[in-house]
Amino acid sequence: MTVQLDIAGIGAGPFNLSVAALLAPIQTMRSRFFDKREHFDWHPGMMLDDAKLQTSFLKDLVTAADPTSAYSFLAYLVAHRRFYRFINAEFSHVQRREFADYLKWVAGKLPNLQLNHEVREVQFGENGFTLRFDQGEARARHLVVATGTTPRIPEWARPHDHPQCLHTHRYLARVPGVDGQRVVVVGGGQSGAEVVLDLMSGKRGKPASITWLSRRQTLEALDETPFSNEFFTPYYVDAFHRLPMARKPAIVDRQKLTSDGISPDTLKQLYQALYTNGFLTGDSQCLQILPHRDVKAMEAASGGGWTLTAHNGFDGQYDKVDADVVVLATGYLTKVPDCLAPLQDRLDLDPEGRFLLQRDFSVDWAGPSQHRIYVQNGGRYSHGIADPQLSLAAWRGATIVNSILGEERYATADAPLPIAWATPDQAEACLEEAA
Ligand SMILES: Cc1cc2nc3c(=O)[nH]c(=O)nc-3n(C[C@H](O)[C@H](O)[C@H](O)COP(=O)(O)OP(=O)(O)OC[C@H]3O[C@@H](n4cnc5c(N)ncnc54)[C@H](O)[C@@H]3O)c2cc1C
Repeated sequence: MTVQLDIAGIGAGPFNLSVAALLAPIQTMRSRFFDKREHFDWHPGMMLDDAKLQTSFLKDLVTAADPTSAYSFLAYLVAHRRFYRFINAEFSHVQRREFADYLKWVAGKLPNLQLNHEVREVQFGENGFTLRFDQGEARARHLVVATGTTPRIPEWARPHDHPQCLHTHRYLARVPGVDGQRVVVVGGGQSGAEVVLDLMSGKRGKPASITWLSRRQTLEALDETPFSNEFFTPYYVDAFHRLPMARKPAIVDRQKLTSDGISPDTLKQLYQALYTNGFLTGDSQCLQILPHRDVKAMEAASGGGWTLTAHNGFDGQYDKVDADVVVLATGYLTKVPDCLAPLQDRLDLDPEGRFLLQRDFSVDWAGPSQHRIYVQNGGRYSHGIADPQLSLAAWRGATIVNSILGEERYATADAPLPIAWATPDQAEACLEEAA
């Protein structure tokens, strides 16, 4: 049987859960959000015991758009009878596993979620979009695509598809026992730091050595100070979106540490662990940190394991590092999901193959304007550094729902700070260029 919908969501990670939660009370809209997972699970491969959310819990799926929603983090606390305990615990940051449990709770309550349905293909015809699954198909007037990102495997690691060479997205599922092993972690962001701390904890055995390579000049902190956090506001995103495309990549790249740095708490934990192990417990771990290193090659070693070669940006030399286990904390890429391949020629993409997104997160596409395709987590270079983050999830969800409904159903405006991001003349010129 073919399901007829107004809105079909592809993927049900946090970003589409937000749209689903904001659509759920709107009876006039038939929506369904499809996810290939059998059970809801948020980044299970990195759900380490001590990991913390890098974002305020108030930036949940709905609160910024609808603080009365039944799907808020506060509603979750009340439903689990831990509202007062949560407040008294005074967490500076919520634990990631608690936020994951909140997301799972929302997923379990939503009436418009369908798990275990992988969208294999989307076609467009006179009846709108047709989504094909192994179990059948659905037709929809609009699509909201939020299929997440793809692990970035550096070219030098690609020939080494091996259980002992793993990307962090599979860390907990795949990490081997590391007793007596030489472990190399590549990547100096939050995931790399969490993996190094986990290896130092001894939970996976006692490694012979841990070598941590990072392209960054040192271990660099996440910048979560107030004026940098302005990049994560609707007001900034509006100003950024109006800029000409050519100006955007350099600006986003300079803002990297507001999104991809290591939490100051994690840095302190690491530094203190090195101090304790070095001076107090007599259990000095053999962690060596190699900053400013760009791995150029990885070759199988004759005695087993691998040898990595890295360029040292500090002194211009090359290092060789031997490894039995390699953990790639090398981040993620955004790409057009495979299920959209039949529509690919009709989508407006930039020369790098990235979506060109309108202010309301719809894609410019060669199709009738009464059928729209919205994309989340694909707009780092159209909407800015906040796009892949949870910070604006509720606002983004509300923007999409308002655009579909053609009315301001949810609040999306916030009082701006007295900061003029663009000069007035330039703002006008940018507007003209965008038009
Ligand atoms: C370990 C980790 C921790 C993070 N912590 C934070 C944080 O603290 N703060 C913050 O702001 N950001 C954080 N982020 C960044 C970001 O918020 C998350 O990656 C977030 O999960 C992105 O949500 P999403 O919905 O776009 O994608 P995802 O969570 O990846 O969800 C995409 C979903 O789409 C489904 N899917 C894919 N293809 C199909 C298909 N063809 N058919 C059906 N379903 C499909 C997948 O099964 C998946 O469930 C973190 C990222 C990682 C990796």
